[in-house]
Formats: sequence, structure tokens, C-alpha cells
Amino acid sequence: MRIARFTTGGDPRFALVEGEPGAEELVVLTGDPIYMPVQPTGERVPLADDVRLLAPVIPRSKVVGVGRNYADHAAEMGNELPTSPLLFLTPNTAVIGPDDPIVLPPWSEEVHHEAELAVVIGKVAKDVTPEQALDRVFGFTVANDVTARDAQRSDAQWTRAKGFDGSCPLGPWVVPGLDVDDLAVTCRVNGETRQDGRTRDLVFDVAYLISYVSEVFTLLPGDVILTGTPAGVGPVVHGDVVECEVEEIGVLRNPVIRRA
Ligand code: ZN
Repeated sequence: MRIARFTTGGDPRFALVEGEPGAEELVVLTGDPIYMPVQPTGERVPLADDVRLLAPVIPRSKVVGVGRNYADHAAEMGNELPTSPLLFLTPNTAVIGPDDPIVLPPWSEEVHHEAELAVVIGKVAKDVTPEQALDRVFGFTVANDVTARDAQRSDAQWTRAKGFDGSCPLGPWVVPGLDVDDLAVTCRVNGETRQDGRTRDLVFDVAYLISYVSEVFTLLPGDVILTGTPAGVGPVVHGDVVECEVEEIGVLRNPVIRRA
């Protein structure tokens, strides 16, 4: 099952996505399935030009990021592997959706892509064990943890580097009930593969991350956890098109622009 948030010009609505790539149809739902029981309205809409997919979730309280959670990425940045998950927070104002432009911040000269599996929380989670953790998940989506690498180096905190407006593209939709133990996580820039990892190489797996994070913050429905990025991060510049993909979820595509 794939659950999308979309607009045809009015208020955002939710839908199940049916059909093969290139011929998808939206089965419109009565409300937001993260927060309420829903059913089909009976309306079906082709996923065509007059439909715009939106970020499938706007995190109600927070996006929790996890740094250095693939050994090959920690190594390429010259970092040791953390002995416990390295957490950071991204504000929900950083979230954008599929095809929304990533606007390069004027104060950075080095902005990198980071393709990641993202977890969308469905039920309140506080001090849950890894065994309980997956019960609290609504589903999974794709994230690009866009990072101003120069600001990450110069600042002690990663808030500016990873929290600026547009730095957290999410989408194209949420897939509930997915087994995420061994999925390909890839990134292409202008069609060229830059990152090609697998979730089996996560240092801390999804259940452990949810448990660990829930011992720090209460996770609310609609909160998002970014699970880290594999090796191959690199710069994006004005005019680029970035595609982040997680196997069995889909492709999150965003153009990159620098405002003059
Ligand atoms: Zn990241």
C-alpha cells in the first residue's frame, strides 16, 4: 500500500496510490490516515499534471536525524563510528515535497545530498523497547537530508547545516508495513548514481533507533526519523535534479536552485 498527500489546487487531501509507475491513480480518502480512521470517498484521480504530490507528512513536532549511521559514510567523512546513535533535530519548516525546489541557502557554498530511509511515527512512543518499536510506525518514506557541509564543519551544532528551509524533502508517499531490513538506498544527480547503499548496513537498525530516540523525546504521530545516509554524498548546484530512491517505496525527485 502507498499513501500519498496531494493537491489539485485546494486543501491537501490523502489517497491510496494504485497502478504501475507512469499510470498511477489516486484513490481519495476521507481524511488523514495518521490521525483518524479513513475510508475511500469514491473519487479516483489520475496522477497527472493537474495533481501535485505534497510531502506525505508534515511532522507535527519534529524530524529526528541520525548522523553517521552507515560505516562507509562515516569513513568517507573521516569520522569514527559512534558508539550510540548521534541525534540531531530538524524543524518541520525544513520539510518540502516531491518536485519542490531545494533552494540553496545564500550563506553556503557546499550543499550535499543525503538519500535516506525515513520512518513516519503512527502512535505515541515513549521509552519503547526495540521489540515494541515497529508497532509505533505508521510507515516509511524517502528523505533527502540536504546538508550545508561547510556550515556543518564550521558550527558546533548541526542546526543551521541541516535545518534550513527546504533541507528535508520527503516523499513521494508513505508505505506502511514494509520490511526495511535490506532495502537499496540510492541517490542520482542528473541521472548519475552517486549513492548506492543498503539498509542492512545501518549501524543501528530502525527498531533500535526508535527505541533509543523514544528514551530522549516522546515521539508523536506524524514525527519522522531519518535513519542516516550511505557513502557517496556530494555537492549539488543550481540546475541539478536530485533523485533519492528507497527500494519498494519510490523515487523522491527535487530540482536544485540558487536564487540570484
Ligand atoms: Zn543524514
